[in-house]
Amino acid sequence: MSQEQLRFDGRVVIVTGAGGGLGRAYALLYAARGASVVVNDLGVGPLGIKGSSSAADKVVEEIRKNGGKAIANYDSVENGDRIVDQAVKTFGRIDIVINNAGNLRDRTFLKLTESEWQSVLNVHLKGSYKVARAAWPFMKKQRYGRIINTSSTSGVYGNFGQSNYGTAKFGLVGLSNALATEGAKFNITVNTLVPTAASNMTATSMAKEIMNIYDPKYVAPIVLNLTHDSNTYSGRVFEAAGGYFASSRWQVAKGCLFKPDYTFTPSAVKARWNDITDFSQSTYPTIGSTVDYPSIIREASSLKDS
Ligand code: NAD
Repeated sequence: MSQEQLRFDGRVVIVTGAGGGLGRAYALLYAARGASVVVNDLGVGPLGIKGSSSAADKVVEEIRKNGGKAIANYDSVENGDRIVDQAVKTFGRIDIVINNAGNLRDRTFLKLTESEWQSVLNVHLKGSYKVARAAWPFMKKQRYGRIINTSSTSGVYGNFGQSNYGTAKFGLVGLSNALATEGAKFNITVNTLVPTAASNMTATSMAKEIMNIYDPKYVAPIVLNLTHDSNTYSGRVFEAAGGYFASSRWQVAKGCLFKPDYTFTPSAVKARWNDITDFSQSTYPTIGSTVDYPSIIREASSLKDS
């Protein structure tokens, strides 16, 4: 079956942390599909060492050699306004932001220093905020924008030794969801990606034999889909790994309701623990879902004692 190619002609994209790994794969594919790309990378790698402009330069060189349009930016995402500024000064606009730059300072909670905690929050959370915040006025004015924030299974599901990283990564789900609601009326979509790929970041945690299965280029197609003109999805979480793509969501158990009076004791709650944790009759709240307190209070008041 022939498929129309998803094109990005005339679109300007910032990909942060694009000097290697996933960001590089996105930058190459965007450029091949006609976009002008700002290849941002501080050139520090996951552990924050060996800062160099060459990581971004090499990707720009590769893009230009293939006939694409790209410039390098070496600012930290913590100064996201500078990255957006360079994009607008060079290409005249900003349409797509891929918040991808990331670092690691893995350590168990008691051993983790405050500076290791803060360093990870600064790059992932503050960095994504700063780039999105600087791009937002342009997107709002032009009534068009596409943003991807990069989370992780370590944030959504939790992982040993990554309290800093997990906090930052789960925070990005919150950032995406809030921005999705605010962006809706300006045609700005904001989604969260949960990728898995072989890269510098996973070089020590991923088995060598499977690294080729998890080539970063196998994640890139969903990023381009979610940032294409045709995308209408917003405030959603997508997992991607080695050619596997899936949307994920929250599930809330049916739960149980107590009459809010003296019968509502800790042991009454304990007695209903199975109902509280049973997912057989669950719901799937989405953005904007709120608890209907008035009807809960009405229903609870009419209940018999616990
Ligand atoms: P990577 O280490 O290859 O790429 C991250 C890039 O970010 C590096 O090139 C690094 O120099 C750059 N960077 C670090 N701090 C920066 C800063 N302050 N400003 C600008 N650039 C900076 O890792 P990757 O695996 O390609 O990771 C990309 C993103 O995907 C990260 O946010 C990571 O947390 C996330 N992620 C990756 C995986 C995976 O399996 N690879 C899994 C879950 C989440």
